[in-house]
Amino acid sequence: MNTTRELRVRPIVSGTVIDHIVAGQAINVLRILGITGVSDAVVSMIMNVPSNTLGHKDIVKIENRELKEKEVDKISLISPSTSINIIRDYEVVDKYNVEMPSTVEGMVKCTNPNCISNTNEPVTSKFIVQNDPFRLRCLYCEHVISEQIAQYLL
Ligand SMILES: [Zn+2]
Repeated sequence: MNTTRELRVRPIVSGTVIDHIVAGQAINVLRILGITGVSDAVVSMIMNVPSNTLGHKDIVKIENRELKEKEVDKISLISPSTSINIIRDYEVVDKYNVEMPSTVEGMVKCTNPNCISNTNEPVTSKFIVQNDPFRLRCLYCEHVISEQIAQYLL
């Protein structure tokens, strides 16, 4: 038995395989899921795997957890190519591609320090999501975020 191989591709009994993550974004996916170091979760992160469609991709496997809609929406913003595989009893019971929502609320911090969503007012940030080219436009102040989305995720 090849133990190296065993470690790399250890199948999960149940949980979620987040596949086709844009290379380099796996760490941000973990941040979105709140996995920052101290955690009981069994998590595998595989980076820079050769991929037919992406060139290289990252993969994250999490045991005993399925993702919330808001988590999937955030992942779609930083890695639109991502596919989600739900595993139960070693079987893939559901598989889907993430889809960018048309608006996001309370997920991204506006980059304009004077935006009403950044003041003490009880106003939740809201952005319109535009594709081609990808950008987020603040509904309150019209500021646009088009790159490094991960660092503005709330
Ligand atoms: Zn704003």
